[in-house]
Amino acid sequence: HTPLALAIMATCGSNCCDGDFDKDDVTTRTIESCLPFPLPDEILEDIVPKAKDFALLHGAGMRYKNKYDADTLQFAPFFLLPSGFPRREFERVVKLQPIINILMHKIAHDHEFLRSALEKTIKVDEFTRRLWDIYTTVREEGVAQWISLGMFRCDYFYSVPSQIAQQVEINTVASSFGALAARISLMHRYVLGELRKPELLSHLPENDALAGLCGGMISAWDAYGCPKAVILFVVEDVTYNICDQRFHEYEIRRQRPDIHVIRRSLTQIGQQGHLTSDKRLIITCAPAVSDYESCPAYVVLFRAGYEPGQYHTEAEWEARLTVERSKAIKSPSIQYHLAGTKKVQQEIARPGILKKFLSDSEAKLVSQLFTGLYTLDMSPEGDQAVQMAVENPERFVLKPQREGGGNNVYGEEIRTVLEKIRDSKEREAYILMDRIRPPIQQNYLVRAHQAATLVEVVSELGIFGTILGNAKDIQSSKFAGHMLRTKLSSVNEGGVAAGLGALDSVFLF
Ligand code: ADP
Ligand code: MG
Ligand code: MG
Repeated sequence: HTPLALAIMATCGSNCCDGDFDKDDVTTRTIESCLPFPLPDEILEDIVPKAKDFALLHGAGMRYKNKYDADTLQFAPFFLLPSGFPRREFERVVKLQPIINILMHKIAHDHEFLRSALEKTIKVDEFTRRLWDIYTTVREEGVAQWISLGMFRCDYFYSVPSQIAQQVEINTVASSFGALAARISLMHRYVLGELRKPELLSHLPENDALAGLCGGMISAWDAYGCPKAVILFVVEDVTYNICDQRFHEYEIRRQRPDIHVIRRSLTQIGQQGHLTSDKRLIITCAPAVSDYESCPAYVVLFRAGYEPGQYHTEAEWEARLTVERSKAIKSPSIQYHLAGTKKVQQEIARPGILKKFLSDSEAKLVSQLFTGLYTLDMSPEGDQAVQMAVENPERFVLKPQREGGGNNVYGEEIRTVLEKIRDSKEREAYILMDRIRPPIQQNYLVRAHQAATLVEVVSELGIFGTILGNAKDIQSSKFAGHMLRTKLSSVNEGGVAAGLGALDSVFLF
């Protein structure tokens, strides 16, 4: 058995790089699985319950979305075996992550760039405008904390036509699944061991995402050097992805028993938070939390606050403003949050922009990761992009300024949406992107209460990075682990929580 090979290019000839291919053409490009599929029934009957137990006992879990029960966990949907990803491309994006961290840091601190990139967007996108208002308010009042902590996740597909990894997006807020990804990497090691395939383990890269991300928060805490301070996680009203979040808390405690983490929703921060005259953020704590009557929060991690639905009333916006006004080191700071918008990413991809922020050689390497990104503003350039999308909607993805999955528009619907808004400024709320065509492979999807099913899938690689610094000095910029999310090839977006996507790990070949 040969481990993995790309059985792809043989059929596609020389026109495979012009982006001109139909669906059948795409499905001929596949990656072999790490073991021959289908697996015999008796093997599946043995290994699936073992893998489920491993996931449960190692906390690769989530809370039920349908019938929420704070006392019960379910394992998060996962794939039984690791999915293939080309080693060369994996190594390329790992190596580039510290440079991308620095790029995002510099973009976030270039006021003029942010202003001109977002100027039109904030006229039509209410959520981005509210973030922008917070940013300008804090700027005008005087920024109390110039240090930002970046905990980024860059997402990639391996593109069949171009045969390199191409960037889907850069997340600067609430980058999740670092903890669960590391657990699934361990589970796949265990599964291959149980299947008596130890020789395949060398294809599975180590994954220290949890330690890497928590290391970032600890260095931010140390940068402050106040022993009484806590790390504040800003969380949803109800957290389904609780294991991922709690493991961050436990890892911080493991590395540093002296640091406390507290969790509060924006609503609670509105009720319990205030600023001192010197802009320390104080959260009134229940007595059980610590000996302190109240906790100065000097590091704030936003695991919520990235979508409109998380701001129920003005009180949550006020809470966000309070945090941003404070001396706390935020991940993300408001300027990092804005730098991570889809619109800014499209502007970064314009020719010549990378060279303003990176050396020529770095700019060249990073630019290779970008696929076509197009403005939809009310200009001849925007008109051209609209026309292009309406003529060939299958080639593009239409993206609003939203995070968290499930917001993009694909295929025929692009035409419908654009035809409705092509003559209105509303279209400036979106960007257009070339649709990346990842290779299809097979894997067994394992979900609670369901038989494992062999399905056709595509995988999206996430690379974590951390950075700490102010506008002038960057203290550190690091690669901080990876994750793989795999979804059915037939769906446009595959959220893990929605059950269409699932956790996975990388099999390098
Ligand atoms: P979000 O911030 O909501 O996660 P993304 O840009 O990551 O937004 O888009 C969500 C999902 O849509 C991705 O995980 C991917 O599955 C799909 N997607 C986004 N951009 C592209 C693209 N250019 N080509 C193919 N699929 C894409
Ligand atoms: Mg995102
Ligand atoms: Mg995404």
